[in-house]
Amino acid sequence: MSLSRQAMKALEAVTGSKYLSEDPAVMQSYKSGPGGYEAGLGYERVMTVLPAAVILPKTTDDVVKIVKICARYNIPYVPYATGFYGPKTHCHVDDELIIDMKRMQHFDWDEKHIYADVGPGVIYASLQQEAFNKGAYGIIGGGGAQCSAIANLLGDGWSPISLKIGLPHRRILGTELVLPEGELVKLGSLATSDDPFWGEGPGPDLRILLRGFTGLRGCLGIVTRMAIKYLPFIQESLVPQGIAPNTSLKLITGRIEWTNYQVNSKPEQVQAMYDIGQAEVCAACTKVPVFWRAIAKAEDKEEFWDIWLKENEETLRNFFLVRVMVIGFCNEEQFQYEQDVLDEIFAQFEGSHKRRTKPSDESWLKNADSSGMWLMTGSYVSVEFVIESMNQAVGHGEHYAALKKDNMHGVDDVVDGDVPEIIAEGQPNYDGFTPGLFPDFEDPGWFQLFENGHQGYSEFLIYWDQDEDTASVDRFFLASSKMNIRYGFYSSHLGPHQPLYLTGPQYGPNYHIWLLKVKNEFDPMWLSHPPVPLAHDIFVQRSEWMHDMIDWEVPETYPMPAWTCSTAARKLRAEDGR
Ligand SMILES: Cc1cc2nc3c(=O)[nH]c(=O)nc-3n(C[C@H](O)[C@H](O)[C@H](O)COP(=O)(O)OP(=O)(O)OC[C@H]3O[C@@H](n4cnc5c(N)ncnc54)[C@H](O)[C@@H]3O)c2cc1C
Repeated sequence: MSLSRQAMKALEAVTGSKYLSEDPAVMQSYKSGPGGYEAGLGYERVMTVLPAAVILPKTTDDVVKIVKICARYNIPYVPYATGFYGPKTHCHVDDELIIDMKRMQHFDWDEKHIYADVGPGVIYASLQQEAFNKGAYGIIGGGGAQCSAIANLLGDGWSPISLKIGLPHRRILGTELVLPEGELVKLGSLATSDDPFWGEGPGPDLRILLRGFTGLRGCLGIVTRMAIKYLPFIQESLVPQGIAPNTSLKLITGRIEWTNYQVNSKPEQVQAMYDIGQAEVCAACTKVPVFWRAIAKAEDKEEFWDIWLKENEETLRNFFLVRVMVIGFCNEEQFQYEQDVLDEIFAQFEGSHKRRTKPSDESWLKNADSSGMWLMTGSYVSVEFVIESMNQAVGHGEHYAALKKDNMHGVDDVVDGDVPEIIAEGQPNYDGFTPGLFPDFEDPGWFQLFENGHQGYSEFLIYWDQDEDTASVDRFFLASSKMNIRYGFYSSHLGPHQPLYLTGPQYGPNYHIWLLKVKNEFDPMWLSHPPVPLAHDIFVQRSEWMHDMIDWEVPETYPMPAWTCSTAARKLRAEDGR
């Protein structure tokens, strides 16, 4: 597989030969590896191929030229930042080019208005340190500080500290976007000036073109520059400590601390969160899933299994922890005031108690533990991560747990009933999805408080054993989307994460028609990361073990060029022995 010699020559004229490669060893290095997000699942096996070539532009002008060359020679491409999002960032069709943004390291900091103006090669670790140095802070996702800040903000951009920092969509300020035909669009205040201080422009907010809720995953052009809003933090910079892999940031006692409050029941756990929101205290407030504790205690994967398999449905059903981070943004008095309010909130629950934690953070301020934290079974994907109300956040996870336990029957029972009681009934039936999913003892998901208490976040993470048949993992992913539709849950897993012809008619309605109209208008040749946003439709179509789940209307032909659905990718994978 290769690009035409004329196309390669034209590309070489943009970056020089040093930053253009077809070396098979280099192409291999653009795969996410066996333990990555979604790696090893049907989607990776069926939908991804190695790139034909990789190019590393330096400037926006380079990107414009590369995209125009792609349009001229009909070359599909995928923008690539650090690749931690896994198979979704891989090439999906033969003879595809990866446009790797690592060299685009533009960086400016506006101290007065507290924002960073960066290129897509800038990663969170350096950005957050720069922010700390200036007395500010921003989000680092669980995926780690090694990710591109822009790539994260295009699709995700949240963590427990979203309680005070708020929705990612709002932190995207002036932005540059190179459309698939090579046109440069400037969003927000960049449309009318050189100052990227503001995200909205005149007329409709074009930021919707960048991400919707969880992003278009590179199928509608390439962002080459973005200004990102940061917020005031304490002025003292936090000091790194420890020796890799056990590193963390030392917290300043009396100014920034994590505290765990243990309560007696789920209603108390949820009530405490509502009260914290109403009192407008805390910088973070999250439920602690039990497996986090097993991960924190374990030194390696074997030890994780030893610790985790001592748990059971009963221990999980009776564990209720609210973990909060308090920051005295202004001074120690503010810190003490918030602690007092918290103590008062938890005092209403008889028998609740407070546990101090280590004065350090390894997860949410500069994230050093992402791979150990999320990949303890070696495999992970989140079948949902969505910001809606606290009401949805709590019930959402319970529905996932019921679905996982009982392959849909439990979910029927849940509709009108009290979910914890339903889960208490009978013995778990793992015939449906476990194994390959690992036994999670009916863990009902992760939820937390966002947006100063106005919104709730739910995430349902699943883990599996790579040595098992993973068909049940693929099936659970799809079943969970149907569950959302059936019970009216808002979902962030639309186009690029689930079959668009399943989700589209249900959300909106006609979400799919609008999305495809926008795609066809901006990318009529379908060169920008094909076949996203229809990649999951094609995945289900190609995967026999999913066929009995198709109960939605599938068009005879998808509204995109036939080559984007080529099965050659699959053949290539088979030859590769995977
Ligand atoms: C274990 C794990 C836990 C995670 N937890 C969280 C979390 O708690 N919070 C959170 O916010 N996120 C989380 N994520 C998501 C993740 O950290 C990032 O959003 C993701 O890795 C993006 O950064 P990247 O550099 O890896 O992007 P890549 O993987 O390189 O790209 C991601 C997508 O964006 C597209 N893209 C990349 N660059 C551009 C560009 N310049 N223009 C247009 N499209 C582009 C790519 O084509 C691809 O589809 C998690 C991920 C993992 C694997």
